[in-house]
Amino acid sequence: MRSPDAEVVVVGLGVFGAAALWQLAAAGVNAVGVDQFTPGHGFGSSHGGTRMFRTACLEHPDLVPLARRSGQLWQELALAAGENLFEPTGGVLIGPRAGHVVAGTVAAARRHGLDVEVWNAAEVRDRLPRHAGIGDHHAAVWEPAAGLIAAEAAVRAAVRVAVGLGARALTGTRVTRIELVAGGALVHTADGGALRAGRVVVAAGAWLPTLLPAIPLRVLRVPITWFRPGDPADADRYGLADVPVFIRELDDGTCVWGHGVHSGGELKLGLEDHGGLLREMGPDGDDRQVTAADWAPLVRRLGVALPGLDPVPSRAAVCMYPMTPDRQFVLGSPGDDTRLIVAGGDSGHGFKHATGVGEVVADLVRGAPPPVPVAFMHPDRW
Ligand SMILES: Cc1cc2nc3c(=O)[nH]c(=O)nc-3n(C[C@H](O)[C@H](O)[C@H](O)COP(=O)(O)OP(=O)(O)OC[C@H]3O[C@@H](n4cnc5c(N)ncnc54)[C@H](O)[C@@H]3O)c2cc1C
Repeated sequence: MRSPDAEVVVVGLGVFGAAALWQLAAAGVNAVGVDQFTPGHGFGSSHGGTRMFRTACLEHPDLVPLARRSGQLWQELALAAGENLFEPTGGVLIGPRAGHVVAGTVAAARRHGLDVEVWNAAEVRDRLPRHAGIGDHHAAVWEPAAGLIAAEAAVRAAVRVAVGLGARALTGTRVTRIELVAGGALVHTADGGALRAGRVVVAAGAWLPTLLPAIPLRVLRVPITWFRPGDPADADRYGLADVPVFIRELDDGTCVWGHGVHSGGELKLGLEDHGGLLREMGPDGDDRQVTAADWAPLVRRLGVALPGLDPVPSRAAVCMYPMTPDRQFVLGSPGDDTRLIVAGGDSGHGFKHATGVGEVVADLVRGAPPPVPVAFMHPDRW
């Protein structure tokens, strides 16, 4: 191979790729990040203003160490960027005591000795007065260390800090093909050129299968909606103190997620149901218009669970969940071929972990042992 353009090319500068670029640059690795859009754009999975950070991860017990490490790295990134990227608001997971949200969170917290409070139904009613329809079989787990990450700002900050450390960012550049060659990889771009590198990190989010079809991903279309209180005089009653960042499992098994008024007088709310309610979309598809058919299932549930809001959203956007079959991320080298590292398959819960994922990528590149368990995310597990 001719002399490389970089030691590492990172394809995709959403939050995973941006954090990887930052961590690579911080480790002194000569890295180039490439994105088809401009970091902080609204077409992938990393937009929508805010993301919930929590360490009591019900999604997999081994995610807790990754979340803890990521929390430290978010602070480091904020310091390096000179920007407030994380707001420690506390966060709450609500639902039937035996349901997967509450029971899963309690199990993760106990296993790792996390600082959480478990509230019974009466305490939930008392502490979360805007949440209605709390039955005696409900409970909540309050994590004081949880909070909100500023989503687009965090992506932009990671790229900016990486560039400040010597990385390069090529935006408006679409990668068409990855070719593994002797001694490294060729990253072909839509303008007909190719970047040569010792290794390539593919952090292409919902576009991952277009470059690596062997990774099994199903892309779900997820509407995000913002609502105002029905009576504008009520705005103060729907702040973060009364409606802290939350995930609430309802008795029908769906989950409402979001948080109270944070900026602009709006609550941000959405509905999760990895089955019937969310449909699949292609990442380049134009299925991005949010209509009443999208928000009606959420609004019906809010009428019972969080009443008093205007039933028509003040704003909406479409985001994507690239889902793996086991809903865990994809992190590592397929076939243990170290020329290629995949960081993706976020399955709708990856933002909080992105800085830790970036660090693991940098460790894999340097041949250093990752500081947290990663085997459960290996790309060859299928
Ligand atoms: C509505 C919603 C709410 C969420 N809430 C939370 C939450 O509260 N907490 C949490 O932890 N997680 C949450 N998540 C999940 C989290 O946002 C994602 O895990 C994370 O954003 C994934 O980032 P990514 O970098 O993998 O993907 P993306 O942000 O989509 O980045 C992929 C990038 O690759 C680029 N790209 C792709 N293909 C190419 C190509 N061929 N050439 C060049 N560039 C390319 C794209 O342009 C894009 O910029 C939520 C997700 C959604 C959709």
